[in-house]
Amino acid sequence: MQAPVLGYFCNMCAEVHRYVIPLYGNESRRLELVDKMEKYLFVRVHEWVPLPKTICRRCVLVVLQVEQYYLHLTRLALELAGLAPPEEPIDLTVKPSQPALLGRPPFHGNHQ
Ligand SMILES: [Zn+2]
Repeated sequence: MQAPVLGYFCNMCAEVHRYVIPLYGNESRRLELVDKMEKYLFVRVHEWVPLPKTICRRCVLVVLQVEQYYLHLTRLALELAGLAPPEEPIDLTVKPSQPALLGRPPFHGNHQ
């Protein structure tokens, strides 16, 4: 007897979500999520560690926003040091052109 799958755990927030993105799927690779999680949030994800290999949309947003914030701070530091010209204000809102975050079909995993 099998229990129905109601959702998948998110690697970052550890909550169950109906819609998640596989960390080793095409969308995650395109967004470089695993690398960004480690670089900006110090979250290490390895395929051999028995933790969830999926991430929810809200946490994807967090990763991308932290990256933007980090890049902004780096740019400001260069400006203050006189090594870069002044920057335009950054926009941290989610763009409709980020398909991983909007209206993607659910991930059904490998359950049977
Ligand atoms: Zn999450």
